[in-house]
Amino acid sequence: MTVLKKQQATEKIIIQITDTHLMDQASSTFVKMNPEQSFHAVIEDILKNYQDIDAIIHTGDLAQVAKPETYARYQKYMQSLNIPFYQIPGNHDNAVYFPFLTPEPMPGVLSFGNWRVILLNSAVPGKVDGWIQPEQLQHLRELLDETKQNDVIVACHHHPLDMQSHWIDQHKLKNSDELKNVLVEYSQIRAVICGHVHQDSLNIWNQIQFLSTPSTSVQFKPKSYDFALDSVAPGYRCLLLKDNSTFETQVHRLSHFKQHINQDISGY
Ligand SMILES: [Zn+2]
Repeated sequence: MTVLKKQQATEKIIIQITDTHLMDQASSTFVKMNPEQSFHAVIEDILKNYQDIDAIIHTGDLAQVAKPETYARYQKYMQSLNIPFYQIPGNHDNAVYFPFLTPEPMPGVLSFGNWRVILLNSAVPGKVDGWIQPEQLQHLRELLDETKQNDVIVACHHHPLDMQSHWIDQHKLKNSDELKNVLVEYSQIRAVICGHVHQDSLNIWNQIQFLSTPSTSVQFKPKSYDFALDSVAPGYRCLLLKDNSTFETQVHRLSHFKQHINQDISGY
């Protein structure tokens, strides 16, 4: 496993974590796995591999049980790391209790040197699939007009491109064509990162890398027609943003993680 390293002080290291699915009680399990424990194990692995992190971005589904205490525990833990951290909501999050600014209708914008990370909100209350509201897409267009000299990464919870997995593609970003209609007009977008699919993937469209990232909890089996869990370990993604408009990326998984997930559950 390659640990990415800055070659220049001006380069940036961004860590993406996603789909922590935390319970209201730290000791509770979900499909026989304790998501709190695996989340903390992932963070410990991040800190072991990377000492020079510019930000951690969580791409949604912070909570499995979306209660104020779930978010409070997450927030307290993340604050203790002394690393800037940002998050966007997923379908399991509750907009009422979510204690962070949500990028709706105005997308969030993070600056890292010449790079910009634009945070979108694709979560729709009460729905598993995703949708980006027209007003937010209009703001995205304006932001992209203003950042033509920058290198841009767009982040949203739901996957805009199909994963060749029938069940999860039903839960994708439903108006991904509208998002793509905006993206296609700009040449500064280097990547779109998402969560939601609990697996590592890379798809390239219009020279843009669409990257999904393993959950810090349970994993879904890639290219499965029906819902299926995968036995691979939880993980995260590192993005090394370089000065020449390119980036390197690496997915890491926990190497010593024992899990006894319940493979028999039929739904999510
Ligand atoms: Zn999700």
